[in-house]
Amino acid sequence: MATLTFIGATRQVTGSCYLLKTRASTILLECGMYQGSNQDEERNQKDFPFDITQLDAVVISHTHLDHCGLLPKLVRDGYQGPVFMTPATHDLIEVMLKDAAFLAMKDVEWENRQRQRAGKPLIEPLYTDQDVADTLHLREVHAYGETTPVTDDISLRFHDAGHILGSSIVELKISENKKKHTLVFSGDLGNSKTAMLDDPSVITHADTLLMESTYGDRNHRSLEETLDEFRDALQEAMESGGNVLIPAFTIGRTQEVLFWLGKFYREGILKQQKVFLDSPMGIKASEIYFKHLHLFNDEDTKSFRETVKQGWKEWLPPLHYTRSTEESMQINTITGGAIIIAGSGMCTGGRIRHHLKNNLWRNNTRVIIVGFQAQGTLGRALVDGARHVSIFGKEIAVNASIHTLGGFSAHADQSQLLDWTKSFSKPRPDLYLVHGETEKMLELQKQLYSHQQWHANIPHPGEMIEL
Ligand code: ZN
Repeated sequence: MATLTFIGATRQVTGSCYLLKTRASTILLECGMYQGSNQDEERNQKDFPFDITQLDAVVISHTHLDHCGLLPKLVRDGYQGPVFMTPATHDLIEVMLKDAAFLAMKDVEWENRQRQRAGKPLIEPLYTDQDVADTLHLREVHAYGETTPVTDDISLRFHDAGHILGSSIVELKISENKKKHTLVFSGDLGNSKTAMLDDPSVITHADTLLMESTYGDRNHRSLEETLDEFRDALQEAMESGGNVLIPAFTIGRTQEVLFWLGKFYREGILKQQKVFLDSPMGIKASEIYFKHLHLFNDEDTKSFRETVKQGWKEWLPPLHYTRSTEESMQINTITGGAIIIAGSGMCTGGRIRHHLKNNLWRNNTRVIIVGFQAQGTLGRALVDGARHVSIFGKEIAVNASIHTLGGFSAHADQSQLLDWTKSFSKPRPDLYLVHGETEKMLELQKQLYSHQQWHANIPHPGEMIEL
């Protein structure tokens, strides 16, 4: 009998990882990094809680680090089998993992300088460039809708999850002793209110369903309300002479923001003359988005696809790419009238921290939050209304206005999650909620029961179920 063990993104949003074992094979579904508080991030250093030599295959739903960020560590620790993913994930994951290795090495360099001075033993990075290069060789690509064997008794099909470019819902069919079992993992489900990508694919059959629950407790505002608030914040910043800072996940939210700024520009309502994409990785990811225009939603992006031939600057002429550190530092001298988009999305690292340090204390600054902010992150502290924050060891007053635009979220909200589950035919699959904070899961569980009389399980980390 097959078993499934919940390892990560279980009663929390990061560290997505599930182990599927049949009589003949073992598959790892996701190999995500823990992100958020220091305590969460320390978990990335720990040994994997399974025998790597037993693994036959790894399947990755999409490129966000909390779904794929520990792959190079798995490879460093001995994994040499295939890693299944979609074509766009193949392109994006290279950018994502190389950057993660770069940051890991930089962190260690800094830490080791302190340790050397204190006479403490030096530490190793989480993984290196070489581990990433070794990982990239293992990629095996399959387009949406294609069925492919993963092992002798498991086949795989990806469906479009509409969350970021190349993101997938993973369907695994297990055949054991003439018995068939279908496991569907939602991955991260997209927000159908956003414009660029298609809505998550409708799936009608599963025996076991793992579903994300990031926004299990709330509904996003409508896109119209979100765009109104976005326009107002941009306008107010212009009138008060301040800058606009947009911390954005380099893959997904960054491109959605560029798309809407371009639309505003074309409508003549974008007054800012300078829009900086201050993120080497965001620039690379945006160019990859451009290579996969066929995955964009036909209707919503028609004029975009017709306008752009070379790149994003045709769509948004005030856009400046800042690749080097020097160029990025020059932005610090601009005290108003600029829009600065930079990573990381939850303000846990990256160039956005420098811009926050320089601008948060000014009361004419607008910070626009467009993505999910996990507990323990600087982004969450801002959303929760902190009056002071610590950045690079300095206490900074928060006098800026903070706007949270839920409608730009890359995740389905409660009503969209409930709608998506309605398509499953009866008998309904056994449902397990994953990828959410516990209180959000409890709320979604309540809603599923009251609307559909469907009991959702909320597994504990390390729990194993029989399929
Ligand atoms: Zn994601």
